[in-house]
Amino acid sequence: MTKDRLTGLLRMMAKAAADCVFPRTCGVCGCSLVDGEQLMCLGCLSELPRTDLHRVEFNTVHQRVAGTVEIDVASGWYYYYSDSPYARLIREAKYDDMPLTARRLGEAYGAELAAEGMAGRFDLFLPVPLHRDKLLMRGYNQSVEIARGLSRELGGDVGDNLVALRRHRTQTRRGGYERYANVSGSFGVVRPEELRGLRVAVVDDVVTTGSTIHECVSAIGASADVASISILTIGVTKMK
Ligand SMILES: [Zn+2]
Repeated sequence: MTKDRLTGLLRMMAKAAADCVFPRTCGVCGCSLVDGEQLMCLGCLSELPRTDLHRVEFNTVHQRVAGTVEIDVASGWYYYYSDSPYARLIREAKYDDMPLTARRLGEAYGAELAAEGMAGRFDLFLPVPLHRDKLLMRGYNQSVEIARGLSRELGGDVGDNLVALRRHRTQTRRGGYERYANVSGSFGVVRPEELRGLRVAVVDDVVTTGSTIHECVSAIGASADVASISILTIGVTKMK
């Protein structure tokens, strides 16, 4: 067998294996994906409720985290409603043991930002950390995977300088103020000197009230001499 043929065969086997672990169906409508489609079909991709907040100064995400530190870019890929079929992808990335979905969501969003000239805009992506117990239970941190996807398309590295300081209870059923109170003091920055002069972007799966990300950007602002702080998420909830 020639080397080229062997390479081709190995590539086919790798693709078949990848398809087994990563189903080739649209994560939104469930139809079969064709070559070149990732995560969702072209129809669903074109109907995606994009926020385009990266083009808007002092937008809804800036407003949610306003206070202690100045935020440069603040954006998420699409609007998140719990009953929207697009929410499935984020839930899958988080709860269904599908880190590859999280990675590909990051890549897809990163590719769209890169197409708008934002490649090279961030030096370091800092995923919102999971508490150790939750990380052990889930096996991965979806925000790390999203950050890896963003980094792949936009350049820049993924850092582990944001850390969870203490356990906080699940926030799913909490109101805005309670959420804020719940996360106060939950995050810290390790080796802040590594962040000196860098344009950092805090990465999370969804921004809701903004309290978690507010804690993270506040921790960075208080301890590290960064050039700028941005926020990138996949989902953005609409405020009532
Ligand atoms: Zn679809």
